[in-house]
Amino acid sequence: MNASEIATELRHWDIGPVLENEPLSRHTSFRIGGPASVYVQPNSQEDLIQILNWVDQHEIPFFVLGQGTNVLVSDLGLDAVVISTSRALRHILVDQERIVAGAGVLLTKLAHKAHQAALQGLEFAVSIPGTLGGALVMNAGAHGSEMRNIVEQIRVWEPGYGIKTLSATDAGFEYRRSQFMVRHWIALEASMTLKHGDMHAILDNMRHFMDYRKRTQPVGDANAGSVFKNPHPDYAGRLIESIGAKGWHVGDAVVSPVHANFIVNRGKAKARDVLTLMRRIRCHVFQRYHIVLRPEVRWIGPGEGGTEGTWENLWYGEGGGLQEPCE
Ligand SMILES: Cc1cc2nc3c(=O)[nH]c(=O)nc-3n(C[C@H](O)[C@H](O)[C@H](O)COP(=O)(O)OP(=O)(O)OC[C@H]3O[C@@H](n4cnc5c(N)ncnc54)[C@H](O)[C@@H]3O)c2cc1C
Repeated sequence: MNASEIATELRHWDIGPVLENEPLSRHTSFRIGGPASVYVQPNSQEDLIQILNWVDQHEIPFFVLGQGTNVLVSDLGLDAVVISTSRALRHILVDQERIVAGAGVLLTKLAHKAHQAALQGLEFAVSIPGTLGGALVMNAGAHGSEMRNIVEQIRVWEPGYGIKTLSATDAGFEYRRSQFMVRHWIALEASMTLKHGDMHAILDNMRHFMDYRKRTQPVGDANAGSVFKNPHPDYAGRLIESIGAKGWHVGDAVVSPVHANFIVNRGKAKARDVLTLMRRIRCHVFQRYHIVLRPEVRWIGPGEGGTEGTWENLWYGEGGGLQEPCE
């Protein structure tokens, strides 16, 4: 089935907007990314599941996108049905010390909802952009806490199987990693356990975290958060700053002068520009410290020349290895 046949079929179902050849740069915080052959925004959880079952049955490649705040989408785009959770999965339910929320809910909204219910434990999430779904996949975290500290159960859709419920242990949370990346589960809903606390103290913490971020990160510039993971016990930002990389640029992709582990798009940056900059940084850090930086941002779509878009290919595809001379 070609893209236009897929789009025609989906439009018949009246499940929300269906776009063809939709630039993903419109749907990512980096403002980077080639077109999705089909882009669909289902209106409800039922619509989303109907689409998932259908693409699965017909072996049509698909990709689920939250707010696009942790992705670097290939300039070649994605020959797949990109399913956005931005309209579906928006419910939030507070029950005693538990919050149950749809995977399309924004983390910031969730943090505010917890505050209104005088529940503590989600303050760290107030300044992390993106959806609950993306946060589960990434085990998102900040200020000494992360999703695995609060998640109790997750309802997912599994390819070839359907809907099932996972425990937090099943989800296999690690530092900015989870079994979602391996098992290709789609998060539908999660329940989180919090604790009753003092509303003023919760709000103070949230304000403190938001202020901190404004002071230390390039708020306002297009970016996808931390580009590299911290190589425990060190910090990627410290290492990158120490090699003098702040301000390095390739085209409009610039190493932020505010925080060295952020690459910002000053206008017309391409995924290729960001990738070249990442290769350069990684090579110089390795030459100086013998530490291999691993990407936190997720590459989506094919690599250069249409190769498989794995980081291994992306790093070494053009000889951009870790040996001198660096690019
Ligand atoms: C300015 C800025 C600051 C940031 N700060 C932090 C921070 O402090 N800590 C931190 O951890 N992250 C941070 N991030 C990264 C990002 O915000 C988080 O990783 C966030 O959780 C991603 O959510 P998303 O909805 O945007 O996911 P997306 O970028 O849309 O997707 C990320 C991955 O999750 C998958 N995905 C999304 N939704 C689902 C779903 N429902 N089911 C299955 N898979 C899904 C996608 O397929 C993709 O592989 C920051 C980003 C920015 C731009």
